[in-house]
Amino acid sequence: MSRSLIRRQLLDFEPYCPGLSIEEMKERYGLSSVIKLASNENPLGVSPKVLQALEKQLKEVHRYPRAGSPRLRQALGAYHGVPADRIVVGNGSDEIIDLLIRVAVEPGRDHVVAFQPCFNIYQLQSKLCDVAFRQIALRSDFTFPMQELLEAVNDTTAMVFLTTPDNPSGFAPPVEEVIDLHRRLPEDCLLVVDEAYMDFAVPQERYSIMSLAGRAPNLIVLRTFSKLYGLAGLRLGYGVMPAILADYLLRVKLPFNVNVLAEAAGIAALDDDAFRGETIRTVVRGREILTRALGEMGFLVYPSQANFILVKPPMAASELFEELLRRGIIIRPLLSYGLTDHLRISIGNAEENQALVRAIQVILANDT
Ligand SMILES: *Cc1c(COP(=O)(O)O)cnc(C)c1O
Repeated sequence: MSRSLIRRQLLDFEPYCPGLSIEEMKERYGLSSVIKLASNENPLGVSPKVLQALEKQLKEVHRYPRAGSPRLRQALGAYHGVPADRIVVGNGSDEIIDLLIRVAVEPGRDHVVAFQPCFNIYQLQSKLCDVAFRQIALRSDFTFPMQELLEAVNDTTAMVFLTTPDNPSGFAPPVEEVIDLHRRLPEDCLLVVDEAYMDFAVPQERYSIMSLAGRAPNLIVLRTFSKLYGLAGLRLGYGVMPAILADYLLRVKLPFNVNVLAEAAGIAALDDDAFRGETIRTVVRGREILTRALGEMGFLVYPSQANFILVKPPMAASELFEELLRRGIIIRPLLSYGLTDHLRISIGNAEENQALVRAIQVILANDT
């Protein structure tokens, strides 16, 4: 009997489904200008201080980075008030998710638990590792049934993923609920709280568990530079975790996972309070404006603490998506999350939000 070239468990592997890129859009629809509100990127672009740091660093790209990105880990430690030995930086927080599963979950014995729907990477990396992945359905309003999640946990649950604010709903439970979940989990079950969008929650202290990260033996908090800092294309994210776990992630990861440009950009980004503040104000204001405007047009808009909103439009979601594409606006269909009636819209800058609202007004008027 001949052996398959590909591991049997991977034969039906479907890749992560990203939002359409601006380039793809221009090709497909013959458009010259495109508004992308599909991937929760920063509507202001990137900090000028980061651009300066990048320019300087460009002359050093022939050098390998220092192993483990110590300068960036120091800067993050200072920013969060946590010793640097509890921080691991990665090629996006996607890489930290992958490393955590590979380091802490035993294939064939352990499993991972998350809500359904959830960010796809948890499931994809589990599958790649031959790790069983179990899901608990969110309530119909996308709030978290914590008790049901806890009931799904047993002595072979190695890891629980919790995304807050959640993707794709924008829902964030009060931090007391997350702390309570953490307290009630067995000590040998890791709670991974993915706070990719926490910077947009107001006030953050009401929602974030970061102040406990690195202190509890089984708590990990993930953050990313892709959303607030506008560095999605450079790939940079991190986890705050117990020192022993950080040590193992650093041992097994590929040596130069974070490149010199990403590290320089990350350090400069952390240092730019003005850009961070302006981004948060832009997103919070835009979130309010879009929530109100779409609500008035008959959309069901879910309350969001993130830089996007989940909506159920007053017409077929797939049709609205297509009509917007034709007008040069990309938003996010959610078939890959198993949601056919909903769409996710990233908050843009003032002009982008206004263009979106206008386009939807025209589409709805033609639809009736
Ligand atoms: C965007 C996102 C991330 C971060 O991805 P990067 O790899 O850091 O770009 C992580 N978790 C969730 C839920 C996200 O939506």
